[in-house]
Amino acid sequence: MIRTRFAPSPTGHVHIGNMRAAIYNWLFARSTGGAFLLRVEDTDRERSTPEAVETVIEAMNWLGLQPDEDPVYQSQRRDAHLAAAEDLLSRGLAYKEDKGNTGRGEAVVFRMPGRDMKFEDGVKGGLKKKSKHLQDFVIVRSDGSPVFHLANVVDDIHMGITHVIRGDDHVENSFRHIALYQALNAEAPHFAHLPMIVNAQGKPYSKRDGAAFVGDFREKGYLPEALFNYLVLLGWSPGDDREVMEREEMVRCFTLDRVQSSAAQFDWKKFEWMNGEHLRRLPREVHRQKYTEAIPAAATNPDYLDAVIHVMEERIKKWDDIAPMAGFFFTEDYEYDPKAVEKRLHAPQALELLVELRTAFSDLSDFTAESTEQALRDLAEARAVKPAELIHPVRIAVSGIPQGPSLFHMLQVLGRERVLNRMQITLLKFSPPQ
Ligand code: GLU
Repeated sequence: MIRTRFAPSPTGHVHIGNMRAAIYNWLFARSTGGAFLLRVEDTDRERSTPEAVETVIEAMNWLGLQPDEDPVYQSQRRDAHLAAAEDLLSRGLAYKEDKGNTGRGEAVVFRMPGRDMKFEDGVKGGLKKKSKHLQDFVIVRSDGSPVFHLANVVDDIHMGITHVIRGDDHVENSFRHIALYQALNAEAPHFAHLPMIVNAQGKPYSKRDGAAFVGDFREKGYLPEALFNYLVLLGWSPGDDREVMEREEMVRCFTLDRVQSSAAQFDWKKFEWMNGEHLRRLPREVHRQKYTEAIPAAATNPDYLDAVIHVMEERIKKWDDIAPMAGFFFTEDYEYDPKAVEKRLHAPQALELLVELRTAFSDLSDFTAESTEQALRDLAEARAVKPAELIHPVRIAVSGIPQGPSLFHMLQVLGRERVLNRMQITLLKFSPPQ
């Protein structure tokens, strides 16, 4: 049976690159009927605080990556690591040495087999290394603490791991790890090393490129299903042009051999788009709840709220967009964007045109997206101006902001009374004193 694991070293933050490794391990296990495990590599006492461990577990829960067995804590397995080192020493596969002659005691050094090595990486293909580049290495420090390589391999053997899917910063380590498996008479797992996530400049993706830690995405109001979907597609594809996918769909078609070996570029625009797509798939009830959390006044009129949700659907890419982008629907006290006022309301004739448009709107027999559009276009033609010279000012007048949903649908949702009133207030506010 296939057994995979996520083996993070808790630092207090979970980088999306690590989380992508967790997701691939989870998907691979799910798609093959195997088990997905968690091993917390918490041997660095200073960084691996209980809070740092909790951050990892929270991030996994948020993304729906529950392990199938109790987590293994590496710090509790020290005796097993040291026993393995003793075993290697007793069989002459390791030796003691005062590295650098520090006089601070002897480290345990693993003896590399002294031959060229190769292995088949699930993502990178065949990898090899000459024996002269494979030096002996420390497995237990002179202070008696086991080194990462030893602990990692001993624990993977203990957990029965069959596939190690991890970041390609560990590719070079794999030669050492395979030698350790052999020395410990264990079958080496299959390795698959994932390429790094990079920014638009091709540099390692970091905090400076926007959110880089799972917690940041959560705080900014993005959806776990969107981050999951996006990270899966960052370096993997289903083999056709599907992009927005449900988790079960990804489980059905995930295979390691379609993971790309080249670096994967995080594209914020695309991620935001994907988040918006996942938002739209959520039940209306969730949207209602998020709107009323963001804008308490939204709770007062359910039909109006539904109409707003509908018209804003294309625009809202994350929950945090609701307050700044849809707030104006629910208050007469909305703010005017100063740049937009300058550009659109202080444009020549803008206010005169608004006065006329207001009259045309009040004369309409019914106030719909179609009728308001027709009235606006008729007026533009009559005054020989471009429709945009009316469209922009009226948008600023009724919402205060230069971007939003389709103007005429927005007018219909706001309704005639609000629209006429807002146009009137705007005219009073921005007309030069007589
Ligand atoms: N703790 C290591 C890391 O986070 C684990 C590497 C591995 O998956 O083997 O990089």
